[in-house]
Amino acid sequence: MPKGKIIKALSGFYYCLDGDKTIQCRGRGVFRKNKITPLVGDEVVYDYENEREGTIQEVLERKNELVRPPIANVDQAILVFSAVEPDFSPVLLDRFLVLIESNDIEPVICISKMDLIKDEKQRQEIEEYAADYRKIGYEVMLTSTLEEDGITELRPLLNGRISVFAGQSGVGKSSLLNVLRPELSLKTSGISSHLGRGKHTTRHVELIQVGTGLVADTPGFSSLEFMNIETEDLSYCFPEMRGVSGDCKFRACTHISEPKCAVKEAVENGSIPAYRYEHYLSFIEEIKDRKPRY
Ligand code: GDP
Ligand code: ZN
Repeated sequence: MPKGKIIKALSGFYYCLDGDKTIQCRGRGVFRKNKITPLVGDEVVYDYENEREGTIQEVLERKNELVRPPIANVDQAILVFSAVEPDFSPVLLDRFLVLIESNDIEPVICISKMDLIKDEKQRQEIEEYAADYRKIGYEVMLTSTLEEDGITELRPLLNGRISVFAGQSGVGKSSLLNVLRPELSLKTSGISSHLGRGKHTTRHVELIQVGTGLVADTPGFSSLEFMNIETEDLSYCFPEMRGVSGDCKFRACTHISEPKCAVKEAVENGSIPAYRYEHYLSFIEEIKDRKPRY
């Protein structure tokens, strides 16, 4: 039986992409009974009713599953952070990175609105942050949708994968998607009214084809709370800590106050940026504070 990928779910129909065809499918009756809800992003086995319609027979195992927007098998998150308007925020970036790492999704950092940088000092500051994150191992793109900078570099990263855009509102996510897929012309918050925004929140997610990749038309990670992360897991969401923590004296080192901690040594000798470690400590506190509520 043929396999496909659900790219859109609407009014009880699932639209399955198989090669260059899209087949309109219904789920098997037994799905409802067994409470199986196929999601956008799911790999499915289907069979044909006719050339354009079919029935989903089986939903293959998911690699991961986002709640908002509801989408399965996300490979990559494009984290959009503007250089200015709003100002670049490393603490918010680290928060997004932790959430993404904990979902087994690969992040790509995209620093947008580079054309709005006013002076050399500001540019240098952004370049330094970019260098820090590249050293950690992250892909960092510097983009401007106004001057179409960095777009050629971003494009190939989308191929063959499912990506979601993430980031605060107003950073330029829709603008980037529009440049990548001009024929879609999604509304940007710059020109849309509050009405348009309301519509966006109730809309269904759809995967759109960009090159050989699929990109969610709705941004992900709207909730930024560390709901499913435990204190002992947090350092695994910081790749540069993960890399050295094997050298800590204590196996269960939390890298806070233990002696002979390889992470703290790396912070002291500058190989881990101090601000990353500070964010780690503040996230630990936040996760600890959450505990009593359960
Ligand atoms: P979103 O809320 O993240 O989807 O952000 P939008 O794409 O709606 O962009 C918010 C505002 O920033 C709009 O007025 C855009 O025109 C503007 N904007 C987005 N990207 C750029 C950029 O690269 N350069 C400049 N100068 N403005 C941008
Ligand atoms: Zn340690």
